Amino acid sequence: VVRVRDVHKSFGTLKVLNGVSFAVDRGQVVALIGRSGSGKSTALRCIDRFETIDSGEITVCGHRVDAPGLDLRALRQDVGIVFQSYNLFPHLTLEENIILAPCAVKRMPRQAARELARRVVAEVGLEDKLQSYPEQLSGGQQQRGAIARSLAMQPKVMLFDEVTSALDPQLTGEVLKVIEKLAAGGMTMVMVTHEMSFARGIADQIVFMHAGRAHETGPAGILSAPRTEELAQFLGNGL
Ligand code: ATP
Ligand code: MG
Repeated sequence: VVRVRDVHKSFGTLKVLNGVSFAVDRGQVVALIGRSGSGKSTALRCIDRFETIDSGEITVCGHRVDAPGLDLRALRQDVGIVFQSYNLFPHLTLEENIILAPCAVKRMPRQAARELARRVVAEVGLEDKLQSYPEQLSGGQQQRGAIARSLAMQPKVMLFDEVTSALDPQLTGEVLKVIEKLAAGGMTMVMVTHEMSFARGIADQIVFMHAGRAHETGPAGILSAPRTEELAQFLGNGL
């Protein structure tokens, strides 16, 4: 579903991605891990074309993301992305946040969009918050609301960038439960996370980013038995 091949990306003279390659199959959950500054967010943003790449190839759900003729709207319909913070529009209620894109992009009638909103908030456990403004929600509720808003577009792939890193442990747990449920439902996901125990529990594949590349890739077992010194060091296993 997602294929990233030999992707290079620099910001000015700073080379951030230096030949990254990895692939995500349908229904797979991939955890992107690595040190701060290793290019995890950049890689994720390239997949959804929030950044353009210098060279290489990215294919997502049949869209050639790096091609000049890319249909950005079609790509964004297939791929949902949730960031660490600032996901919901503060001046809109949760319901208005959720129905915005389905109405504007998919031209869904308002009534149908509202029904859809009710369905997606139920999936994230926010049935009673549809009329709340983001500031009236806890951090965890806001993140779950942001996930619900993405789900309303019925994406084929979800990208998560450290969606829990601004939250305290209890709120983190609530959000991770929602992500676990999505995984169980067969959603294809790529998530940047610092929660190693969560990654171990949920990920089908781990991609360890180092020096601008996918330095070590493999099943969750590599978190317990890393093959490279760099991953071992990152995990604090010594060597
Ligand atoms: P973290 O774990 O801290 O979120 P990360 O692995 O997500 O780190 P990135 O956000 O991808 O790292 O950033 C990789 C490098 O690229 C960093 O050195 C960062 O300063 C730089 N960078 C990211 N975005 C830009 C930008 N828009 N302009 C210039 N430099 C950038
Ligand atoms: Mg990041």
